Amino acid sequence: MTKRIFRSISLVAISIFLASGMLFMGVLYHYFSDVQRKQLQMQTQLAAQGVENEGITYFDGLEVGKGFRITWINQKGTVLYDSAEDTSKMENHLEREEIKEALQMGKGDSARYSSTLMERSLYCATELEDGTVLRLSIAQHTIFTLVLGMVQPICIIFVLAIVLSLFLASRLSKKIVKPLNEINLDQPMNNEGYDEVAPLLRRIDAQQCQIRKQSHELFQKTKEFETVTNGMTEGIVLLNAHQTILSINPAAIRLFETDASCRGKNILSINRNLDLQSLLAKTEEGKHAEMILELGSGTYQFDASPVMSDGNVSGMILLMFDVTEKERAEQMRREFTANVSHELKTPLHTISGCAELLSNGLVKEEDIAKFSTQIYTEAQRMIRLIEDIIRLSHLDEGAADMKREKVDLYAVAEKTIDLLGKEAKKAQVELGIEGEHAIVCGIPHLLQSIVTNLCDNAIKYNKKNGTVKLSVWNQEDCVQLLVSDTGIGIPKEHQERIFERFYRVDKSHSKEIGGTGLGLSIVKHAVRLHNATIDVESMENEGTTIIVTFPKM
Ligand code: ADP
Repeated sequence: MTKRIFRSISLVAISIFLASGMLFMGVLYHYFSDVQRKQLQMQTQLAAQGVENEGITYFDGLEVGKGFRITWINQKGTVLYDSAEDTSKMENHLEREEIKEALQMGKGDSARYSSTLMERSLYCATELEDGTVLRLSIAQHTIFTLVLGMVQPICIIFVLAIVLSLFLASRLSKKIVKPLNEINLDQPMNNEGYDEVAPLLRRIDAQQCQIRKQSHELFQKTKEFETVTNGMTEGIVLLNAHQTILSINPAAIRLFETDASCRGKNILSINRNLDLQSLLAKTEEGKHAEMILELGSGTYQFDASPVMSDGNVSGMILLMFDVTEKERAEQMRREFTANVSHELKTPLHTISGCAELLSNGLVKEEDIAKFSTQIYTEAQRMIRLIEDIIRLSHLDEGAADMKREKVDLYAVAEKTIDLLGKEAKKAQVELGIEGEHAIVCGIPHLLQSIVTNLCDNAIKYNKKNGTVKLSVWNQEDCVQLLVSDTGIGIPKEHQERIFERFYRVDKSHSKEIGGTGLGLSIVKHAVRLHNATIDVESMENEGTTIIVTFPKM
């Protein structure tokens, strides 16, 4: 801006200087021409008087100044005398403008340029009493020669004027721009400058207010959005139409095992899964798409939706849900259904076979009792299995309807000894109890089910003349229930899996002794509902100790 003002001022100054210089020269030239013409008229008048008084003798010894010329012409135009040239060689002067004028009006004058235009001659003629005409002429410089003659001073003045103009223009432009440069745009209304700038400053102030308001709102909205997305367990990624990440929440960062620096990069830079690419390609066409993808150790559902503006896809929203648990539960359910069907099929086949033989009368009289017992045993197994399944599904649902209360675990253990005494005797296993009264907060019948199941297993998987010992102890910050036996033990590699549904170390042995394979699953569920933990310590052929640790009340 300073440069522009400087250029404009300089241009105006120089133009004005040149124009006024030219005008001044013109006016001056005109003025001096006029003065010279008047002088010439006066001199012509004086010379005319001299010629009238003295006749031709007037010219004798007459010294005409440099540039001056005097001519005397008769009425016919013949030159009688000329101070510059030989009269005999001179042509008739009757047609000359000033002569014509003098003959008609007594006086006449004219001006003529020389052939080179470098010089101009002023002519002044006056008619004498005898009818002759006396003419005086003077050579005058043209304005062009005048300028040429003054080139040096004009140039010096011109250069000085330009330097002065440039200097003043520079100072002036800086002075004009200074208040503008000093405007504090952060506080537009606190400026003292040009009144003309005030409306602009008011406008800037209003716009700044608006921008501040809008950016505050934007900040609030971004914060809200971030608070919401940061708290989400689902991953959310906003992409533009070219699959560049615009926003990514912490859950998605964790899922893609990346960091916040991935914002602004293409999603390909954090994941190159081809299925994900085809999902996004479908979304780029404006369609909603979803799929299940395995990422790391988890399973995720990816939902991609296009963001449309003016009928075009301007971005995409990618939502990721962790469905690992859901998938696992689904898988477990499928396995469970298959297992249940399988477990039910075997006793049903036995029952059906026996019943068929009996109904066809193909069983000997003495074997009828054996076949009936078989049917009864298998039916009992089925009943146990169905009861266990019902119990398990109840626990799966969280057992919300069951009330918690203070329960003495030692009393539960005592009751269990009573309940399973007969069974232990039958298996030739000695049942014992030790410990102290210990109160836990729990669901009484679930606690009973835990102890019964563990004790039942300890009897079932024991050896002849073996022992089972129930212990209940108050520890510093917990209550422990230990069920130890001197049975067959559990091989190390099976210890982790015995809590799985229908998992048995020795399937045939378990079936033989009436096991359903669900006992420990029920125990594990019940333990979890009491915020307790369960551990197994076992040595093959030596025995097993199952330790359940309850939090203290
Ligand atoms: P089951 O009805 O077959 O007893 P459980 O779920 O109660 O089913 O137990 C799963 C498996 O764990 C059993 O089949 C058995 O192989 C093993 N097991 C459980 N308790 C004991 C124990 N005290 N000693 C040895 N093995 C055991």
